Amino acid sequence: MTFKFHCTCGQKVSATDDMIGTTAICPRCRSGIVVQLPPELAATAAPAAPPKLPPQLARVRAVPMAVVSRPVGLLALAAAVALVLLIGTAAFLFRAHLHELVPYNLPVLIGLPIGLAVGSAILAIFLRLAVRIVVRFDLSFLEAWLVALMISAVNALSVIPAALVPFHMLSPEQGGKLLVLTASGGLLITIVTYSFLIRNALGRPIGIGRGILTYLLQIVFIVVLAGIIGAIGTLVGTFFLHRLKPLGSPN
Ligand SMILES: [Zn+2]
Repeated sequence: MTFKFHCTCGQKVSATDDMIGTTAICPRCRSGIVVQLPPELAATAAPAAPPKLPPQLARVRAVPMAVVSRPVGLLALAAAVALVLLIGTAAFLFRAHLHELVPYNLPVLIGLPIGLAVGSAILAIFLRLAVRIVVRFDLSFLEAWLVALMISAVNALSVIPAALVPFHMLSPEQGGKLLVLTASGGLLITIVTYSFLIRNALGRPIGIGRGILTYLLQIVFIVVLAGIIGAIGTLVGTFFLHRLKPLGSPN
């Protein structure tokens, strides 16, 4: 059964009855709150029979739950490792071309990290939405952004074989074969990241089933957004082309 109760900060929090008595994180004030039925529901609910637990277990249950800590430090570490791997691998593989890149292509060098940061922020919005639907928990934007940054770096790393082909460092066949391998690895790391680094309200990993579901849902959001942007782009383009035509035509 799902029910809603209020945090001390006033935020309405949804929970399921198996969460009663455990400590969850308030999506607004981020403080630990003990999940309990709201008074109006508790009054109507049939008095639950106290579970018959062996004495040792009963003692464990009686100890107040510690406030769950969100794994922001772990996420930051994972994102940092992925970024260092990406930059290190790219710098090593393209070291022969770095001298061309640095003086002439400074906009590329500045644009790539900015693109990665902004792209991850957009991905984080979809990730939060997907987690909200699949796990019914509002991930903090920082957590979502760190996860998005980490998997963006991993997936950028996994397409490097494709970038090696134009530089004649790999033949197209070799690049294609390697790309299948690294892209699969990237997908696997993404699923593992979603399943074990994204935590629910109780601070537990959301698990592989929900991890895959979150991943797929977020892909659907991205495809829908791309479709909307494409449609708007086409509409705007058609509109302006029609307006420009009389101006551009000589008669
Ligand atoms: Zn709160």
